[in-house]
Amino acid sequence: MTSFHPLDALRTAPGPKRPRRLRRTAALRDLVRETSLDPADLVQPLFVVPGDSVRKPVSSMPGVDQVSSDELPVEARELAALGVKAVLLFGIPSAKDASGAEAHAEDGVVQNAIRALKDASPELVVMTDVCMCEYTDHGHCGLLGDEGDVLNDETLEVLARIAVSHAEAGADVVAPSGMIDGMVGAIRGALDADGLHRVAILSYAVKYASAFYGPFREAAEGAPSFGDRRSHQMDPGNAREALREVALDIEEGADALMVKPALGYLDVVRSVRERFAELPLAAYNVSGEYAMVKAAAANGWLDERAAVLEVLTGIRRAGADLVVTYHAKDAAAWLQSG
Ligand SMILES: [Zn+2]
Repeated sequence: MTSFHPLDALRTAPGPKRPRRLRRTAALRDLVRETSLDPADLVQPLFVVPGDSVRKPVSSMPGVDQVSSDELPVEARELAALGVKAVLLFGIPSAKDASGAEAHAEDGVVQNAIRALKDASPELVVMTDVCMCEYTDHGHCGLLGDEGDVLNDETLEVLARIAVSHAEAGADVVAPSGMIDGMVGAIRGALDADGLHRVAILSYAVKYASAFYGPFREAAEGAPSFGDRRSHQMDPGNAREALREVALDIEEGADALMVKPALGYLDVVRSVRERFAELPLAAYNVSGEYAMVKAAAANGWLDERAAVLEVLTGIRRAGADLVVTYHAKDAAAWLQSG
């Protein structure tokens, strides 16, 4: 009678019962890695303020500054040297009002920034956030009704004007982020009516009402003065609704899609990837996700480089083609240095 030893199965197995074989050396691991992370997959958000030679650190986002337009050519050169090919612009205007008028001013802060970037670095992909919350004195994403509610259809006209003004200034991609129903269709219609067919729409198709936007609100100075954004942003408990939002945006003419935030919503990234495989998908690694890693690293609780690269790889593995992230510059430098 032969006795069975627990290792017999491994000893005699001809097949892949020893997965560690392919993890033995760095070269083997590189060879079989399923998910790549490249600087060209990353989009660096930038916060632009009026003025000259401004570089003002955002305290809740260490390493992130608000910058004036004249500083942007330096940023563009640094990003190009690191292989990052795209930026996403947010503007902080000199003055805010109830209708967010500076958002579509020809010489508004973002419009000037687009021209500065395109003059310095024509090949850089310039994306712009299209929303009203940084421009309104009440901090909401649209025009308000008498009850303080965000008016949907009236807001669409303003969003269309904002997008056209960005496109006329030279933006390659406009990214509406307000979760206003019909925003993609309104913007596509206005761009096309103005002959701006070349400009693409990256829709924040699935944007949740998230606590992880906290630090961003300091950076973009766009916190609502009352209430919250739960009447237009999605409820964190909903995933099927995300697919409906995406389907509508595709129908309205979105060229690419975004899920925001990323880390708490990787299941949503995955299901959008699977259901709508034909469109490029971005995920936004938001300010709170950034701040958590930075704070833990500053305390010596995490290895920042390893944590950032793991986070970004995880977002890519879930199905995002592009990752919008405040870590873009650092991550690109780490990726370049191997
Ligand atoms: Zn907004």
